[in-house]
Amino acid sequence: MEIKRELLELMLAVAKENHPNEIVALITGRKGIGEELIFLPFESGETMAIIHTDMLPLGMKILGSFHSHPRPILEPSQADLSMFSRIGKFHIIVAYPYDKKSWRCFDRYGNEIEVKILD
Ligand SMILES: [Zn+2]
Repeated sequence: MEIKRELLELMLAVAKENHPNEIVALITGRKGIGEELIFLPFESGETMAIIHTDMLPLGMKILGSFHSHPRPILEPSQADLSMFSRIGKFHIIVAYPYDKKSWRCFDRYGNEIEVKILD
């Protein structure tokens, strides 16, 4: 998986801004590269069911999701896993204290995967 460095920095910043609340967004992009976040109103786990991919700009695909954990736990919860299985190929969790190392990426089954960061 590949994402732009700006996007990773944005995720960490947004998570920090919303602390101690959680934040959830979808990751979109072109050619499989995560470029943008789409923020939606959410209730835990419900968001993914109501997204219509035809609302996305042409050529953009939902690649995965991003959400934050206000506690320093970089592991997906049961609810996270059920969300992961519903949409996208990769899922980023950012956790308190939201520094450069406070994130991990998982596949739809909750296995950690490597992400290439593009400058
Ligand atoms: Zn979570």
